[in-house]
Amino acid sequence: MSSQRGNVRKTGPPKHQNKKAFKNSLHDTSKKTKEINSLEVTGVCARCKDIIDWKIKYKKYKPLTVPKKCTKCEQKSVKRAYYMICTDCAKHHGVCAKCGEKKDIVQGPGLSAEEEASLNSQLQQELKMLPERKRRTFLRLQAEGKFSDSGSAATFEDNSDQDTDEDCMSENEIG
Ligand SMILES: [Zn+2]
Ligand SMILES: [Zn+2]
Repeated sequence: MSSQRGNVRKTGPPKHQNKKAFKNSLHDTSKKTKEINSLEVTGVCARCKDIIDWKIKYKKYKPLTVPKKCTKCEQKSVKRAYYMICTDCAKHHGVCAKCGEKKDIVQGPGLSAEEEASLNSQLQQELKMLPERKRRTFLRLQAEGKFSDSGSAATFEDNSDQDTDEDCMSENEIG
């Protein structure tokens, strides 16, 4: 018996080249990885979102096991890893929940057209079930924007007013 066979030197390209994009779930289908992969990184600025997304992608993301102390309200209300500020405080101060800076905050993905359509048809179905009078009342209230959920236009106006106020205040404080 000889060991000649094993002595052949390898030539040419390696058998397995990374042709596909890196996928962290390729060899790991655990529940934890799935959970982390499905996280929506919201309430932070674009840069912080990139950082957290990167950590998720390359499995560097370590979820919090216990809530962390918020740097604003000092309550143990931070439930997401890498965030410094709780959701309420970040919203209230209009800052990134990670770096705490007043930047453009990445909003959570809104409803997709599909989801919106299905909700709409659901609503239409419900309306059909209502007696005529109730349906009219509903439509009237909706038209008047008395439903907080559908009155997004009014909510937007309120928000922009608040923003300008805050801007003026901070300018005054500085000057
Ligand atoms: Zn807080
Ligand atoms: Zn940030």
